[in-house]
Amino acid sequence: MAIAAKSQVRTAIFGGGPAGLMAAEVLLGAGESVDLYDSMPSVGRKFLLAGVGGLNLTHAEPQPHFIQRYGARGSDLGALLTDFDAAAIQAWAGDLGIATFVGSSQRIFPTAMKAAPLLRAWLHRLRSQGLRIHVRHRCLGWDGQGAWRMQTPHGEQTLTSACTILALGGGSWSRLGSDGAWVPWLRQSGVAVHPLKPSNCGFEVAWRAHFKKRHAGAPVKAVSASLTTPKGVTHQRLGEFTISHYGVEGGLIYSLSAALRDTIEHSGRATLHLDLLPHLSAEHVLAAVSHPRGSRSLASHLQSRLKITGVKAGLLREILTTRELLEPHRIATTLKALALPLIAARPLDEAISSAGGVDFSALTPTLMLRQHPGVFCAGEMLDWEAPTGGYLLSVCLASGRQAGLGALTYLKITNKIN
Ligand SMILES: Cc1cc2nc3c(=O)[nH]c(=O)nc-3n(C[C@H](O)[C@H](O)[C@H](O)COP(=O)(O)OP(=O)(O)OC[C@H]3O[C@@H](n4cnc5c(N)ncnc54)[C@H](O)[C@@H]3O)c2cc1C
Repeated sequence: MAIAAKSQVRTAIFGGGPAGLMAAEVLLGAGESVDLYDSMPSVGRKFLLAGVGGLNLTHAEPQPHFIQRYGARGSDLGALLTDFDAAAIQAWAGDLGIATFVGSSQRIFPTAMKAAPLLRAWLHRLRSQGLRIHVRHRCLGWDGQGAWRMQTPHGEQTLTSACTILALGGGSWSRLGSDGAWVPWLRQSGVAVHPLKPSNCGFEVAWRAHFKKRHAGAPVKAVSASLTTPKGVTHQRLGEFTISHYGVEGGLIYSLSAALRDTIEHSGRATLHLDLLPHLSAEHVLAAVSHPRGSRSLASHLQSRLKITGVKAGLLREILTTRELLEPHRIATTLKALALPLIAARPLDEAISSAGGVDFSALTPTLMLRQHPGVFCAGEMLDWEAPTGGYLLSVCLASGRQAGLGALTYLKITNKIN
């Protein structure tokens, strides 16, 4: 039987996304020796993908509002987000030679919008500080003696370290590396881990074939969407979304995705109410629809009176029966509150991010696993979720930094030496 090769390092980081790299930066900055292992042939793949549509690094809104974006997890994340806030993230990027700007929506982007120049500069600096990166090394959890098991191109190897940081990501876009395969082994070791679920994801709607064929890919602009959860809480947002062949996706839907997903889990479906004319009152809309239309078709009547055309007109026809389309009152109320039944969240692998992960009660304030002294967790593998808008990377960077600082303190206290 082949005997697994063994190695020993001072600090091991598993996962080379933004959280793991930020933890490495803190440790290297304090003169620690750091080995980073990633299962993929290169690090930062999801970070690079995030840059494809414009890398939204963080958000410039005031800190109390910022922290509210994390819902109930705001109390667990508030301190680390305050220690490494949007201004600190901008300064950090600036130190890497990456200028940033605050967009009209208060979102903060690198001037070049892309992730690649930032990642390149970051890796260059980390390597010059001594970071050793081992790609194609997959962490498989602990062996019976408490050493780390790794699957490597040279077979299975084991590793011991004075201190370890797990930054293994969530479970979406598994082809980029974060596949959530860590959940079972971490759970088996006694750590409370919530199931990974899709967040910032699309939802399925049972569109009729004609509607799908005609409108898939169409943006539905300037609408308001609201959802009342089974607990009676109403969430309302203004924005736009896109019709897809399977249902609905896009910013407005993502911003409601946590409440939509949880409602579907609870009740089997969620009804989204769309106000297709949010800037007009219900009375105005009813008066316009009820205005005599003579020989004009309903379509040209709605177009001339309310500028309802294209996909918005299609939605009305998708929801109302032929008979209901003869009733002005019914048309007007539907334009102001079109009830769209969503039947399922799209699969986790397609989502922008994951909800669920390591429960905060399993962690100390410095993100060390209470069950496993010397092992820290950071990034999307922790149990939080937030809308898009730079809130995701903000926590990944800030929690990576927190885990790095926690690891430094731990190393000082235990004074473990290779
Ligand atoms: C399309 C898209 C666009 C996005 N855009 C934005 C945006 O503009 N702004 C924003 O804030 N966020 C955005 N995000 C989210 C953001 O990219 C993630 O939240 C962030 O990358 C998570 O960082 P992380 O370090 O926790 O995990 P990851 O970036 O997922 O990194 C985890 C790393 O761990 C490695 N790994 C996993 N398992 C193992 C293992 N067992 N052993 C060894 N290595 C392992 C993986 O290969 C990976 O390199 C976007 C996401 C997607 C999918």
